[in-house]
Amino acid sequence: MLPGERHKPYRDAYDRPIQYLRVSVTDRCNLRCVYCMPEQGVPLLSHDDILRHEEIARIVRVAIEMGFIHIRLTGGEPLARKGIVELVAELARIPGMDDLSMTTNGILLRQYAEPLAQAGLRRVNISLDTLQPDRFRQITRLGRLEDVLAGRQAALAAGLQPIKINTVVVRGLNDDEVVAIARKTMEPHWHVRFIEVMPLRSALGTASGATPWIDDGVVPSAEIRAQVEAELGPLTAVRGEAGGGPARYYQLSGAAGTLGLISPITEHFCHSCNRLRLTADGRLLPCLLSDAAIDLRGPLRAGADDEQLSDLFRQAMIEKPASYRVTRNAATCLSMSKIGG
Ligand code: SAM
Ligand code: SF4
Repeated sequence: MLPGERHKPYRDAYDRPIQYLRVSVTDRCNLRCVYCMPEQGVPLLSHDDILRHEEIARIVRVAIEMGFIHIRLTGGEPLARKGIVELVAELARIPGMDDLSMTTNGILLRQYAEPLAQAGLRRVNISLDTLQPDRFRQITRLGRLEDVLAGRQAALAAGLQPIKINTVVVRGLNDDEVVAIARKTMEPHWHVRFIEVMPLRSALGTASGATPWIDDGVVPSAEIRAQVEAELGPLTAVRGEAGGGPARYYQLSGAAGTLGLISPITEHFCHSCNRLRLTADGRLLPCLLSDAAIDLRGPLRAGADDEQLSDLFRQAMIEKPASYRVTRNAATCLSMSKIGG
């Protein structure tokens, strides 16, 4: 194929077109969100284990030539990776790249939004679980709400739009704020997605004792929807973004923005799963919740050519399970900061 040419998206064994690659560029993070990481952090990869810029770019180029359309950078915190602007520029130059986005906690966006936009990033999703400064500190353990809000403004000014806000809802932690956050969609440029928390043991580290949010923290999307409708009126279903994704989208009457619901616990969305994940150390994950992983870094460093790398992508697609179920009390062991959400 010529540079920049690409195949039609590959379909996996269950006829799902696979065209979305989430790329974790680091396992490091400047926050310690309670549902994601233990307070002391998680054991970190060594410098040599992490894919270098050119290795990430090579893998992404192969993915695009195979028909991947959406490339999203995540982490850990992607803005905590050294040289992130240069990495974005390198990825944006790949022929055929037309949807390069990032999921970030927003803390460093004030300084990075403009350079990232200049480098070719298209849009950002920002994780934000509360509009209350004290509570923000309680949930993230380290961050300041004002930094995220300033980061959001900077992203808007830089044209990194539409910005979607990802709000993980946890009973007893921020479920009393669902209505206030939903109300934000009445204002321009506020698109919010409420995500059911996944109970991950990895977030506890060595902590022991009561874990109320793990044992009983899930607020089903249906309950979130009912709460919003009771206070703010009916939600009308609207079309989601092109390329699909796990969210179902709605709008309040007269709202400027959309309200999405993502329900990893109470509803299957595996039937429409269109993604693979690349970890910071170069493993391709067929599914967020299975242990299967295909090493790309080893073959890459041993001199694999593009066709061999494509074969490994195809293997990951073949290994995508039909579905995987997390239950409220599954308390799975994987670490979200390692997988990238
Ligand atoms: N650090 C970046 C951020 O927070 O946006 C990117 C990585 S983070 C792992 C990606 C997404 O996963 C975030 O939106 C975060 O809220 C979500 N997440 C982390 N732990 C989660 C959990 N236990 N259940 C549901 N979502 C989770
Ligand atoms: Fe860091 Fe994102 Fe995990 Fe929060 S959710 S600890 S910001 S990786």
